[in-house]
Amino acid sequence: MINGKLIINGREEASDRTIEVASPADTRVVLGSVPDATSVQVDAAVEAAATAFPEWSSRPLEERQGALLAAAGVIHDMIEEYVPLLSRENGKILEESKIDLEFASGICSYTAGISAETLADQEIRDTGGRTLIRRRPIGPVAAITPWNFPVVLSFMKLAPALVAGNTVVLKPSENSPLVLTEIIRALQQHFPPGVLNMVTGGDTVGETLVSHPLIRKIGFTGGIDTGRKVMTAAAQDIKRVTLELGGNDPAIVLDDLDLSPGTMRRIAKGAFGTTGQVCFGLKRIYVPTRIHDRFVEAFCSAVDEIVVGPGDDPRSTMGPLNNAQQKGMVEKIVEDARASGAIITTLGQRLDTAAWEHGHFMMPSVITEADPRLAVVEEEQFGPVVPVLRYDELDEVIRLVNQSQYGLAASIWTSDEERAFLLGRRLDTGSVFVNSHTFTSLDPRAPFGGAKRSGLGREFSPDSLHAYTELQTISRRTGPPGPPLS
Ligand code: NAD
Repeated sequence: MINGKLIINGREEASDRTIEVASPADTRVVLGSVPDATSVQVDAAVEAAATAFPEWSSRPLEERQGALLAAAGVIHDMIEEYVPLLSRENGKILEESKIDLEFASGICSYTAGISAETLADQEIRDTGGRTLIRRRPIGPVAAITPWNFPVVLSFMKLAPALVAGNTVVLKPSENSPLVLTEIIRALQQHFPPGVLNMVTGGDTVGETLVSHPLIRKIGFTGGIDTGRKVMTAAAQDIKRVTLELGGNDPAIVLDDLDLSPGTMRRIAKGAFGTTGQVCFGLKRIYVPTRIHDRFVEAFCSAVDEIVVGPGDDPRSTMGPLNNAQQKGMVEKIVEDARASGAIITTLGQRLDTAAWEHGHFMMPSVITEADPRLAVVEEEQFGPVVPVLRYDELDEVIRLVNQSQYGLAASIWTSDEERAFLLGRRLDTGSVFVNSHTFTSLDPRAPFGGAKRSGLGREFSPDSLHAYTELQTISRRTGPPGPPLS
C-alpha cells in the first residue's frame, strides 16, 4: 500500500480527504491512496513556488542542470522496482510502464543536455549600438497531467520548466498517481524547498491551481474539453499555456503496402498499444478499396494474437482500460456503431484470470463497414477498438484528415518512403510518422504537439525549453539602425 502525500514547500502533508486507488485489473484490490488537496493547500503550494522562484531562477544554470541530471538518475534507479506497480495502478502492460519511466528519466537528461545552448543569451553588436536578447524563466508553473502515461507526461513539463529556472506545482491525475507521487517525493533531496511541489486530487484541485493568480504558465496534457477550460482560466491573467490534447490519428495505407504479418503487427500495436489509450494512438485506418478485404483479413490475424490480461502479468500483451468511466465510454461508442449496421469483429485471446469480471477489461475489436459520421470514426475513442475505412481517392482521405477537428499525428504506410514524405507535407497534423505509429516513432529532438484542437505549443526538442521562458530584449541603441534596416 502506498499512501501518497502532498508536497508543499519540501514538506509532506496529508489532507482530511483521501482518494483510493484501486487496481483496474481487479477493482476489489486497493493499491493505495492520495490526498484530495483542499483549496488552502493548493494556495500554499503555489505560494511556496512563488517564494522559491527568485532564488531558484537566479542560480547558475549548471546547478539546475545538476539537479535535473540527479533527477534522471533517481528515476532510472526506480525503474525496476516501480514498473510492476505502475502496471497495477494504471492497467497497462509491463513493457509500457517501463517506457513511461525510461522516457521520464531520458527526458530529464536530454533537456539538461540541451539547456546551455538553448537558453544562451544572444547579442547583436553593430555600429548603432548593442542589443541583448535573453530567455528568462516565467515564474511559478502549474503542470497538470492525465493518467495514461502519468510519469513521462509530467516530466515533459517538469524538466524544461525546472532547468529554465521556473518553480512548479504538479497536479497528477487521481487515476494513476502512486508511482509518480513516490518519484516526486524521492526527488525532493535534489531541489530546494518550494521548487517542486505536488498537489493531488480531482478536477477541482486542477481548477483551483490553474486559476491561481500567482501561476504564470500552465503546462497541460488531457482532453480537449478540459484544455478549453484551462485556456479560459488562463485568459483571466494572460497566463502562458502549452496544451497537449486529444487526437484521432489516422493511418493512411497506400496501395503498395506489403501486408506481411510484421507490418500488420506494427499497425495493431499502434492501435491497441496501452489498450488504445494513447493520445497519438492510431484511431482510424484508411485503406484503398482494391486491397481493403485482404488488409482486413491480415490485420485481424495480427489483432487476434493480442493476449488480454492484467497489466502486471508478463503473458499479457494488452491490459484492462484504466477506469470504469473510460470503459463505459468506449462500450457506448462500439454499441452505437453496431446499432448503425457496422460490423464489429472482436478478437484476441483472454488470459484465464479469476478477476475478469472485477476488472475494466475489453477485448480488442476491429470495425468495418462503418458510417464515416459515427463517433468511432469522428471522435477520439481512447480504447481498444479501431475502424478500417475504404477509400478510392487519396485526395479524399487527405481532405477528411485535414477537416477533422483533431491534428495530433498521422501515419503513412507504404513501401515508398519518398512518396510518404511528400504526402506528409499535405497533412494538417503536428506529426506524421512513416511505417510506424508507436513510441518508437517519437524523437525527443523533434517537437511534438498538436495542430488544430489537438493542442497549442510543442513539447520535446529545444522548443520545449522555449515554452518555459519569456524573451527579454535589453538594448543600447543610440546610433542609426544596424545593417539589416539601414
Ligand atoms: P482529463 O482532461 O480529464 O484530465 C487531465 C487532467 O486535468 C487531470 O489531472 C484532471 O484532474 C485535470 N483537470 C480536469 N478538469 C480540470 C480543470 N477544469 N482545470 C484544470 N485541470 C483539470 O484527461 P484524462 O481523462 O486524464 O486523459 C485522457 C485525455 O488526455 C485524452 O483525451 C487524451 O487524448 C489526452 N492526452 C493527450 C496527450 C497529448 O500529448 N496530446 C497525451 C496523453 C493524453
